[in-house]
Amino acid sequence: MSGGLQNVSIRWSQRARRVRLVVKPAGIELVLPPHVSESEAMGFLSQHCEWAERKLTEVRGQDKPGSAPLGSGSQVPFQGRDVPLIVYEHAGSRLKIKRMQDGSFEILVPPISSISVDQQIRSALFVWVKQWMRVEAGRLAQQHGLMSGLRPREIRIKRMKTRWGSCGPQNDINLNWLLAFTPPSVLEYVVVHEICHIRHRNHSRDYWDLVSQHLPDWRHERQWLKFQGGELLRRFA
Ligand SMILES: [Zn+2]
Repeated sequence: MSGGLQNVSIRWSQRARRVRLVVKPAGIELVLPPHVSESEAMGFLSQHCEWAERKLTEVRGQDKPGSAPLGSGSQVPFQGRDVPLIVYEHAGSRLKIKRMQDGSFEILVPPISSISVDQQIRSALFVWVKQWMRVEAGRLAQQHGLMSGLRPREIRIKRMKTRWGSCGPQNDINLNWLLAFTPPSVLEYVVVHEICHIRHRNHSRDYWDLVSQHLPDWRHERQWLKFQGGELLRRFA
């Protein structure tokens, strides 16, 4: 192992299925399944030493959360909880993404690409989130729709720069993919907000009464978007 690696911490995790190397500005963390010993872990680390050093320099150069490009060790607030991104180069030519059992996202990027790693990670996340949110938002729309007989024709997950959702004249609902990065109750609120527009195409008293029947505490979620939504849009939209 080269002398360059400092601040290495080791953590055993019941849920880890294999050795993982997490690189953050504070240092390097080795996450180990229970059966792996410290010396085996060090062997693993020495094999990945160069990679870890490179990543460490990379992530330390990106301390400002607002502008930092995404890379291995970056975190995204999936459903409002910080979840690490573990990024590997792989021999294939395609970008791949998978949600691991411990909640992290594993992203495999092709070694040669004309697009930056940051951009590749963002596209991979978008693809994954789109699929996940179609199911999740569909479930929420169905659950709330049963209550009031409001049924969207279609739910589309989109990249939107300034809005969180919209309801079209044909009752198609568009949702901002970044709702995957808010607490679950905020996604639920936006789904309810939009399906209630199927009945009231305005923000009248009657409209908010209907929203309240579905979610009595909707003001809380609306405040969240008002105060914390901007940061998400700045970082990811
Ligand atoms: Zn509205």
